[in-house]
Amino acid sequence: MTIGKIIDGKAFAETLRGKVGDGVIAFTAKTGRKPGLAVVLVGEDPASSVYVRNKGKMTLAAGMESMEFKLPASIGEEELLDLVEELNADDRVDGILVQLPLPAHINEASVIGTIDPAKDVDGFHVVNSGLLATGQDAMVPCTPLGCLMLLKDELGDLSGLEAVVVGRSNIVGKPMAQLLLAENCTVTIAHSRTRDLASVVHRADIVVAAVGRAEMVKGEWIKPGATVIDVGINRVTDTEDGKSRIVGDVATAEALAHVRAITPVPGGVGPMTIAVLLRNTLVAAHARAGLAKPE
Ligand code: NDP
Repeated sequence: MTIGKIIDGKAFAETLRGKVGDGVIAFTAKTGRKPGLAVVLVGEDPASSVYVRNKGKMTLAAGMESMEFKLPASIGEEELLDLVEELNADDRVDGILVQLPLPAHINEASVIGTIDPAKDVDGFHVVNSGLLATGQDAMVPCTPLGCLMLLKDELGDLSGLEAVVVGRSNIVGKPMAQLLLAENCTVTIAHSRTRDLASVVHRADIVVAAVGRAEMVKGEWIKPGATVIDVGINRVTDTEDGKSRIVGDVATAEALAHVRAITPVPGGVGPMTIAVLLRNTLVAAHARAGLAKPE
């Protein structure tokens, strides 16, 4: 039995962050200032706090300016919108990221809609999703863009390949499908109402699973030789030792016997997300300074 390749997202992300670091040095030499990323955290959700801390660390490690705004969960929507407006107007800020989810009394769409699309390094503003959907230059959401980079690195030209994206969220599934379409794949988006998901997945040369259900995609669903990108992050508790661990949306151990290549969880897509965020910030800084897009 042949075993598929494990795609090393961690190593790829490290290389990407290195390239961003080089780009930051060149940008700073040209403009006399560092690119700046502002991250806004509302409340004290433990997972969000960890993400924000990591983003801050990696931003500094890439040689950029990092600005963190930690606000109480009780903050009013108006106050948050005022902060976003201030960041829009601040010349030192090239990228603005408001960590989601926001507390229930704040309308996420209003907050995202207030971010200047040119500084929307998460790519969630409707202007950016519209640009992406119409094949124009856009700020693309970090996770799906990271998935696409891994796919192109593994497969080269994706043209004509059958791709199935499981999940249709605005932050992963939909932009992932748009990116694959732009690469000339034949794209199917599956979701919770899809009938016979197993046979839909079995058609695919490329499977992207972004569901949030532990090991839902079974090995036998996968067409021999397909490439699988597992976006899921699910915490499960081992019945034997009671310890908790993180698994993806794909039953990786089973899938390895079928795939050409697969991303592991952890160590696959996860590390790519922050690396692409830094890359998006560098791209935004170039655009704002009137410079050509970096390599
Ligand atoms: P959402 O909950 O927003 O979307 C999940 C999608 O999965 C929905 O479209 C839903 O369908 C679909 N779905 C749910 N159940 C099934 C099912 N039984 N069969 C088929 N489809 C189903 O999640 P996100 O897109 O935000 O995230 C998906 C996963 O990716 C999560 O585990 C999340 O933690 C992870 N993630 C990882 C990131 C990273 O950096 N690695 C970044 C972002 C997310 P419907 O629309 O019909 O409800």
